[in-house]
Amino acid sequence: MRTLSVQACIVGGGPAGMMAGLLLARAGVSVAVLEKHQDFLRDFRGDTIHPSTLAVLDELGLGDAFLTLPHRKIETLTGVIAGNSFRIADLRHLPTKHRFIALIPQWDFLDFLAKAGRRYARFRLLMQAEAVDLIESDGRIVGVRARTPEGETAINADLVIAADGRHSLMRDRSGLEGEAFGAPMDVLWFRLSRRDSDGEGGGGWFGRGHLLVTIDRGDYWQCAFVVPKGSDAAIRAEGLAAFRKGVAALAPFLADRVDEIQDFDTVKLLTVVVDRLKRWHRPGLLCIGDAAHAMSPIGGVGINIAIQDAVAAANLLAVPLREGRVTEHDLARVQARRLPAAKRTQAVQRFMQDRFIARVLDKSAEPLEPPLALRLINRIPLLQRLPARIFGLGFQPEHVELPAA
Ligand SMILES: Cc1cc2nc3c(=O)[nH]c(=O)nc-3n(C[C@H](O)[C@H](O)[C@H](O)COP(=O)(O)OP(=O)(O)OC[C@H]3O[C@@H](n4cnc5c(N)ncnc54)[C@H](O)[C@@H]3O)c2cc1C
Repeated sequence: MRTLSVQACIVGGGPAGMMAGLLLARAGVSVAVLEKHQDFLRDFRGDTIHPSTLAVLDELGLGDAFLTLPHRKIETLTGVIAGNSFRIADLRHLPTKHRFIALIPQWDFLDFLAKAGRRYARFRLLMQAEAVDLIESDGRIVGVRARTPEGETAINADLVIAADGRHSLMRDRSGLEGEAFGAPMDVLWFRLSRRDSDGEGGGGWFGRGHLLVTIDRGDYWQCAFVVPKGSDAAIRAEGLAAFRKGVAALAPFLADRVDEIQDFDTVKLLTVVVDRLKRWHRPGLLCIGDAAHAMSPIGGVGINIAIQDAVAAANLLAVPLREGRVTEHDLARVQARRLPAAKRTQAVQRFMQDRFIARVLDKSAEPLEPPLALRLINRIPLLQRLPARIFGLGFQPEHVELPAA
C-alpha cells in the first residue's frame, strides 16, 4: 500500500475542507486534502457567499480577485405571500466592506480556493481520493485509508480533519455521537430559464402547502421547491403536470416556462437534516462544517458557517500542528469556539421551520397570513438589518489571525 505522511489530513474538498487546507498550508502546515470526486462540478449546492466569507477572502488578500469571477449580488431578501411582497432582510447597512451576498456557483468558489491553495508548497489536493476508513493506534486516530487512482493509500497524519459533509463517513467511523433535531421539510431542486424581462424575480414565494425559492444564476433560475418532509414520492406519483401547476401557482412569472421540466430525473431531492455532534473531536480527529453540524437551508448559511469553522480551526491549530504537539485540549478549544454559533444559528432556523415553514406546508391550516413579525420587519426598515446581520455575518464571525508562513 502507498503511504503518505502529512501534519494534517483533511477529508472532504467542500467549503470547510478547502478553506482549512488553504489556511493551514498558508501557515506552514503540511496538508493533504482528499476529495472523492474528480472535480467540483456538482449542481444544486449552496451558492451563497455571504459578507462573512467575503471578509475572510479579503483578509487573505483574495477578495478582489474572487469578485472578478462572474457573480450576482443580493442586497435585500424578499418573500411573496399571497401575492404581496415583503422585504425580510436588508444587507446594505452591514458594518462590513461587502454589503451583499455574492451568488456564485459553488464549483467556481472551490476551484478558486484550490488555485489559491496550490500557491503554497505544503498544500496538496488529491482528487478522486476517497477516504474509506480511519487508522487508529492506541485509541488515537493517526491517519486515514483512501482509495485513489494510484491504488489504496494510507495517509498518516498528526490530525485528521473530517470535513466530509452531512453524510460524513469519518464521523460514523469515529463513533462520535450526534443528535438530530428533525425538520418539517425537504427540498426539490430544478432549473428554469431566466429572461431579462424577469427583472429581480429572486426570492421566496409562499403558498398554501408549498414554498418556492428562486435563485438568480444568470441565464437560469435555480429553483428550490420546499415540500412537506417525506412527500417526494407522492409528488412524483401525482405527475409532472400537477408539479408544474404547483410551481406556476406560486410564482406566476414562471408559468410560461414550467414545461421546461420534462422529466422528474431533472428534479433532485435534498433531504433536509438538522443535526449536531455532541463532541466534535477524539484524539487525532476533529469534525468541522456539515460533518459536525448539518444546517437547515434556511438563510443559506451552510457554506459560511463551514468556512467560519475552518478559520477558527486554522487559527487555533496551526501552531500546535506546526510544532507537532496538537492535543485534544486544542481540539476542544475549536469546538468551544464554534459550538455556540452553530447552536444559535440552528435555534433560529428551527424556530423559523417550526413556527412558519411548517404552517406554510400544512395544507389543512387556516389561509396563509404573513406572521406579525414579518409584517413588522417589512414595515420598519431598521428591523430588516437584524436578519441581515444574523445571516450575513453570523453569530461569531471569525477572522484570519495567522500571517502567511
Ligand atoms: C442541495 C443543497 C443546497 C444548499 N444550498 C445552500 C445555500 O444556498 N447556501 C449555503 O450556504 N448552503 C447551502 N447548502 C449547504 C451547504 O452546501 C453546506 O452546508 C456546505 O457545503 C457544507 O460544507 P462542508 O465543506 O462542511 O461539506 P460539503 O460541502 O458537503 O463537502 C464535503 C465534501 O467531502 C467530499 N467527501 C465526502 N465523503 C468523502 C470521503 N469519504 N472521502 C473524500 N471526500 C469525501 C464530498 O464530495 C464533498 O466535496 C446546500 C446544501 C445542499 C445539499
